[in-house]
Amino acid sequence: MQGKKKTKIVKTIKIDLDKCNGCRACEVICSAFHATPKYSSTNPARARIRVIHDPLKDVYVPVYAGEYTAAECNGRDKYVIDGKEYDECAFCRASCPSRDLFKEPDSGLPLKCDMCEDDPPQKEPLCVQWCLNDALTYEEREEEVEEEVEQAEMEIGLEALANKYGLGKIMDTVARMSMSR
Ligand code: SF4
Ligand code: SF4
Repeated sequence: MQGKKKTKIVKTIKIDLDKCNGCRACEVICSAFHATPKYSSTNPARARIRVIHDPLKDVYVPVYAGEYTAAECNGRDKYVIDGKEYDECAFCRASCPSRDLFKEPDSGLPLKCDMCEDDPPQKEPLCVQWCLNDALTYEEREEEVEEEVEQAEMEIGLEALANKYGLGKIMDTVARMSMSR
């Protein structure tokens, strides 16, 4: 079904590899911001940005978490940086069943960068603010999207929850939440 088009602000983070020194401040602030309660702990395993390191070449590559994927993809690319070949999944932004990256360590639920959505909103995503080397730059652009895209994103999130906890439990929780409102 073809949905109506609407304009959406697409938020992205541009990464400059030459400027990243692997300090991992981005991982620290991201995990602290998303801790419950906020700023109560720092655990890079909960961060929605991870810094991939090649010790031999001393290359650091910050990767922030994208969409959850329910199955391994098949159109993978190999990457070569400064002559070193990285495996197909090394810089993938998806939380995927075939690896542990971008999964909440306790629940296994997928982690996705939310550009630090908050109320009131951040002036810039926190990892960008905390990167003192300017390796991360926040960018916004306008794009025309189908209205159903957002619906599809919500369905993928629900599917991840249902796979983990079972549909019955999710329905019970939703019913409980709506009664307590
Ligand atoms: S804070 Fe910046 S320099 Fe430090 S690891 Fe993250 S991206 Fe790299
Ligand atoms: S923008 Fe925010 S949520 Fe996304 S990786 Fe950076 S600190 Fe984490």
